[in-house]
Amino acid sequence: MKGLVFHGPRDVRYETNVPDPKITSPDDVLVEIAYCGICGTDLKEFFSETPNFFPANAEDRNEITGLKAPLCMGHEMSGTVVEVGKNVNHVKVGDQVVIDPSVHCSDAARFPESQLKKGETCSQCRYGLTNICDHSSIAGLGAHSGGLADKFICSSKHAIVVPKSIPLEIAALTQPLAVSYHAVRRSGFQEGSSALILGAGAIGSAAILCCYGFKASNIVVSEPSEVRREYAKRLGATVFDPSIYSNHENELEFVIRDLRKLSPNGEGFDYAFDCSGFPATFQAAIESTVSNGTIVNVAIWGAKPIEFWPMDITRHEKKIMGSMCYTTEDFEGVLKCFDEGSIDVETTRSFITTVVDLQNGIEGGFQHLNNNKKTEIKVLITPNNHGELEYSKSYTKVFQN
Ligand SMILES: [Zn+2]
Ligand SMILES: [Zn+2]
Repeated sequence: MKGLVFHGPRDVRYETNVPDPKITSPDDVLVEIAYCGICGTDLKEFFSETPNFFPANAEDRNEITGLKAPLCMGHEMSGTVVEVGKNVNHVKVGDQVVIDPSVHCSDAARFPESQLKKGETCSQCRYGLTNICDHSSIAGLGAHSGGLADKFICSSKHAIVVPKSIPLEIAALTQPLAVSYHAVRRSGFQEGSSALILGAGAIGSAAILCCYGFKASNIVVSEPSEVRREYAKRLGATVFDPSIYSNHENELEFVIRDLRKLSPNGEGFDYAFDCSGFPATFQAAIESTVSNGTIVNVAIWGAKPIEFWPMDITRHEKKIMGSMCYTTEDFEGVLKCFDEGSIDVETTRSFITTVVDLQNGIEGGFQHLNNNKKTEIKVLITPNNHGELEYSKSYTKVFQN
């Protein structure tokens, strides 16, 4: 089959002779890929001498699967089931599915070369918190071959059936939405609540849709970039530019004062999601929430600690929590929101700015996305040529109008 194959740092190749994946375990599903998105993480892995997920030394094996490069990239995929192992009954041939690409302790059994002891499971996995597994890794990012290929194989528990109402190109956005969905779900978000989102990059934009999925009453986004603010507005949020006070000596105080004014009755937001990861956004998240409010850190921070005064949360009984990746439940949640319309499919479609075939995936996908970070949001690759290529020509580019 065809695939975009990671051989080592800065060495990804389009190949036409990748071995076809074969069902080897009674629990396997084989999926023909319709669409697979590429994201910021993929770009980092593609362009960096020191990738975060693939080992920098191509000879190193993944702990759970025992596999090593060459392996196909791609972890944001949708497709159609073409074959199932004899024990699989929750999906069948012909079903449209999305894949939860996380790989955790319970996957080890499927891989004879696994470096984990047989039956060994970390405590998080025992509690169902597979997103924070001690050994967690991701298909398409070094654990095993991913969806930038004609076909993909995994254990059936990673395949989630897509309701017929959802087109496969929209379904391919389930994985990037699941990160934000997990944050909103874990916050305990109550219907009718208000939300503040700090930062409208990929995760922040997806968080807007997911807050709507949880039937938020009022969503405010704080974002210094004008293009991102415009897009957040298109997704239905009220937007605020925190850079209006830059270089003012009371900058943060004024930003927090203005944000609070945008909250219901000026009393603060019920939930704040820090999708930026700066000391100022974290402090604004804490001080812009209502008493008893919840602050969720979704951002990935650098290694440097920050100053924080615990009384800011204690005297108002606020809660601070973190959110990491997703579980299969989040994929099901996003699909349910699409199906019932609480996340609007056509609004979500505006995330897709380009669709290319696999053959042009390096130039038209990875390099194109890297060179056009300001105008591109989601580039989808369609290995089996589903739908219309050059999607961006048939849909308005969101950042250019
Ligand atoms: Zn991704
Ligand atoms: Zn685990």
